[in-house]
Amino acid sequence: MTKYIFVTGGVLSSLGKGITAASVGTLLKHSGKKVGMLKIDPYINVDPGTMSPLEHGEVFVTKDGAETDLDIGNYERFLDTSYLKSSNFTTGQVYSSVIERERAGGYLGQTIQVIPHIVGEIVNRIKQAGKGHDILVVELGGTVGDIEGLPFMEAIRQMKHDDEVAGTFFIHVTLIPYIKAAGELKSKPTQHSVQELRRIGITPQMIIARSENGLPKTFKKKLAMSCDVSQESVVEALDAASIYDVPMSFLRQNILKPIAKELELGELEPDMEEWDNLVKKIVQPKGRVVVGFVGKYLALKESYKSLTEALIHAGAHLDTRVEICWIDSEDIEEKGAEALLSDCDAVLVAGGFGSRGVEGKIKAIEYARVNKVPYLGICLGMQLTLVEFARNVLNLEGANSVEFDENTPHPMIYLIDNFLDQSGGMQLRTHESPMGGTLRLGEYPCDTKEGSIIREAYNGEKTIYERHRHRYEANPAYRKQLEEAGMIVTGESNGLIETVEIEGHPWFLGVQFHPEFTSRLQTPNPSILAFVKAAINLP
Ligand code: GLN
Repeated sequence: MTKYIFVTGGVLSSLGKGITAASVGTLLKHSGKKVGMLKIDPYINVDPGTMSPLEHGEVFVTKDGAETDLDIGNYERFLDTSYLKSSNFTTGQVYSSVIERERAGGYLGQTIQVIPHIVGEIVNRIKQAGKGHDILVVELGGTVGDIEGLPFMEAIRQMKHDDEVAGTFFIHVTLIPYIKAAGELKSKPTQHSVQELRRIGITPQMIIARSENGLPKTFKKKLAMSCDVSQESVVEALDAASIYDVPMSFLRQNILKPIAKELELGELEPDMEEWDNLVKKIVQPKGRVVVGFVGKYLALKESYKSLTEALIHAGAHLDTRVEICWIDSEDIEEKGAEALLSDCDAVLVAGGFGSRGVEGKIKAIEYARVNKVPYLGICLGMQLTLVEFARNVLNLEGANSVEFDENTPHPMIYLIDNFLDQSGGMQLRTHESPMGGTLRLGEYPCDTKEGSIIREAYNGEKTIYERHRHRYEANPAYRKQLEEAGMIVTGESNGLIETVEIEGHPWFLGVQFHPEFTSRLQTPNPSILAFVKAAINLP
C-alpha cells in the first residue's frame, strides 16, 4: 500500500512548490524508495496544451504523449524517471470524466455533486497515480484559500482516513517576508495560511519556509509553536544558487527525519554523492561557453524551461558554465545575424509556433551554416534549416513551411494528412483540424545513420527514442535534392525525416524531436551534451 506526501502552498504563488516536491521526492528515491510524483492543477483547461506559453510557461510532453504542466519536467529532471499521463490532472479532466460517466448512466440516477462525486473522482485519480509506488508525492497547484482548490483539499483530507492509504504527510510551503523598515521577519501570513488549512481539516506536519534571509532559531521556534509543528519540522528554503542544491539544503536540515518518523519509513540515508558533485560543478564550474539562444518568447524564459535546464545538465557533466546569450529572432531581422551572434560559441534555434520571428531564425541558421559555427536546431529550428538550405543553397525561391506560407512553391515543411501515432493508431491531420489533438506528441523511435553526428552523440546506438510536439513534417519530396547538395537525412522514424546534418560542417544538427524533454541532471540528453561539447570545441 502506498503512502502519500501532500505539498500545499500558502500566502502566494511562485514559491517553488514544484522544486520542493521534486526535492523531497529525490531524497526519498535516493534512499531506495519507489517514488511516484503527481501534480494536480485546479484550472478548468483539460490540459495546458492550448495555453499560450506566456500564460503558462512551457508545456511539458511526457513519453506517452501527454501535454502537461512544466512541473512534471522538474520531477523527471530531479528523479531521473519518465512519468506518464497519470502524473498530472486538472479540474477539467475530473469534471469531464464525471460528466461522461453521468451521461452514460453510470451513477444510477443519483444527483451528481461536488461531494461525494467530484471529490471521489479526485481521490480515485490520486490513488491510481500512487499504485506501484512506496510513496506518492502530490503537489497541489494554487494557494490555500483558492475557490478552485477546495475539492482537492477535501479529497486529500479524506485520504487521511482511507483504508487503502498506508499513511499521509502534509507539507505546507509558505513565505516568510522580511520587513526592511522594521528589520523583522514576519510569521503572520504563514499563521493565517495554516489556520485556513486547519479550517478545512488539514493540519500540516511540516512547514517549508521560503525566505530571503536565514531564520534565526528563536524565529523557527516561534513558527513551530504557532503552526503546531515540531521545531525539526520547520525547514527553511533560502534562494539557492541552483535549484539542484535544494535537495542538498533540505538534507542538511534533516528533512527526512520527521517524514520517516511519521510515515514509518525506517532510517533513511540517501546517497547523494554523485548529485552533490554535479551541483558543485553547476555552482563553480571550471570552464565557460556562450550559446546564442535564438527564440521568440524571450519575455518569458519559463517557456523554454526544459531546454535551459538541459543546457545546465550538459554543462554540469562537462564542468562548464553554459552561458545563454538570449537573442530575440525579431532583432536579427532588424540588425542581422552577424551583429548579434558573433560573440557566441554556438547557435541554438529552439522550437516554436507561428510566423513571428521566423525570418530572423532563418538568418541565424544561415550564419551558423556559412560560418561553420556549431548549430543545433530543435523542431521548428530543424524545419527552418531545410527552408534556409532550400532558399540559399538549392536556390528554390520562396521555399517555406506551409505553416507560414500556404501557397509556397516549395513546401519544404508540409502537413502530412495521416500518420501512425505512438500506439500504432492512424492519426489524420488537415488544415482544418483543431490544434489540440493534431500534434505529433510523445516518444517515437528514430533510426540513425552510421557515421552521423546523431549516431555518435548517442554512443553508436542505432535506434534512439525522443519526444515530439509538432504539427508539420519535413517533406520527403525534396530529400534527394537536399542530399545531393550536402544536407543529409541522418535520422528517420517510419519514413518521417527526424534529423538532418550538413556535410563538411563541423557540427550542424537539426532534430525534429525535442531532446530537452529527456534531459536529467544525472543523465543529460546526448544530443544536447554533444552540442555543448562541440561549442567548447571538445573532441
Ligand atoms: N510549428 C512547428 C510545427 O508545428 C514546430 C513546432 C515546434 O517547434 N514545437 O510543426
